[in-house]
Amino acid sequence: MDIRTHRIAAIPGDGIGIEVVAAGLEVLEALADRDGGFRFDVESFDWGTDRYRRTGAFMPEDGADRLRGFDAILFGAVGAPDVADHLTLWGLRLAICQPLDQYANVRPTRMLPGIRSPLRHVGESELDWVIVRENSEGEYAGQGGRSHPGLPLEVATDVSIFTRAGVERIMRFAFRLAQSRPRKLLTVVTKSNAQRHGMVLWDQIAGEVAREFPDVRWDKMLVDAMTVRMVQKPASLDTIVATNLHADILSDLAAALAGSIGVAPTANLNPERDTPSMFEPIHGSAFDITGRGIANPVATFWTAAMMLEHLGEAEAAGRLMTAVGRVTADEDLHTPDLGGRATTRQVTDALIAALRGRN
Ligand code: ATP
Ligand code: MG
Repeated sequence: MDIRTHRIAAIPGDGIGIEVVAAGLEVLEALADRDGGFRFDVESFDWGTDRYRRTGAFMPEDGADRLRGFDAILFGAVGAPDVADHLTLWGLRLAICQPLDQYANVRPTRMLPGIRSPLRHVGESELDWVIVRENSEGEYAGQGGRSHPGLPLEVATDVSIFTRAGVERIMRFAFRLAQSRPRKLLTVVTKSNAQRHGMVLWDQIAGEVAREFPDVRWDKMLVDAMTVRMVQKPASLDTIVATNLHADILSDLAAALAGSIGVAPTANLNPERDTPSMFEPIHGSAFDITGRGIANPVATFWTAAMMLEHLGEAEAAGRLMTAVGRVTADEDLHTPDLGGRATTRQVTDALIAALRGRN
């Protein structure tokens, strides 16, 4: 039998990123072992803040190019308390996402078995969303600047860039995703009352693209009202598309509503598959708990399942998510972010045992 080999670039980064990626790779190995139909060829990259301190750069200049030959990238988290966040973001995450044109950031949010929402009225069936974040332009286009430092007339600008091509491709991606889900329901989020150029273009293009998807029901929301709706009427939402900044904020809210950011995954996709896509937990490097062995690895396990799905290993992805559900259903296996006392090691071992038990 032919064994499929998936070439994975692992970038653990900093802090708990290193801990959860190690756990994720163990789980992937266990899956490959069990399945026999595929294997992983993993290369790890020590890119991150330590490298920045040593060399002045988070990754080599040709870093993004070095990733091109891989089938997927598994990313942990970067950042450290003593390095400004904007240097980290632009020095590594965006320095990979932008050249590799991973323009669709997909963030599924649902309540895993045994994990409760902080909202009492929200049960498992009320919350099943996918947030699509535009990942290549908008507020994170990097345009703008500063002048007259220290003077009263000091000026700082951040210019949002929205292009027709950029908005059309993310809108089409979101409509297609909504169409593939049972409810065929899409909410387009903007702030087109106040931001009267780019956001109005979003609304307009949403209307145009909607005509290509007559079976998708869709509506528009202003981002402020959207936060209220997510809390008060979560069941009225399914697929959500928003700009780089808006979706970043909404997806942290979504993760908290679903229990913890310690369980939330994300995929930075190049949907055309011209370049590798990158998979990561949405949380950061969490230096407040680094080195204590209590980081929740569930976000990374779910992230690994998204990666498997993308690699065409849907069966293994399903098996992994079933095992994740069996682990989260057991409160003794909850880490402190979920109110429990379990360690990263215990959760990882239990997950691998659950994978083995089923076969
Ligand atoms: P960054 O700037 O990299 O986003 P941050 O400190 O702003 O870092 P996170 O690292 O995401 O944000 O952490 C936010 C809070 O959530 C912290 O208190 C952290 O301990 C907690 N947290 C994040 N991820 C996890 C996890 N996997 N398991 C447990 N707690 C977590
Ligand atoms: Mg953060």
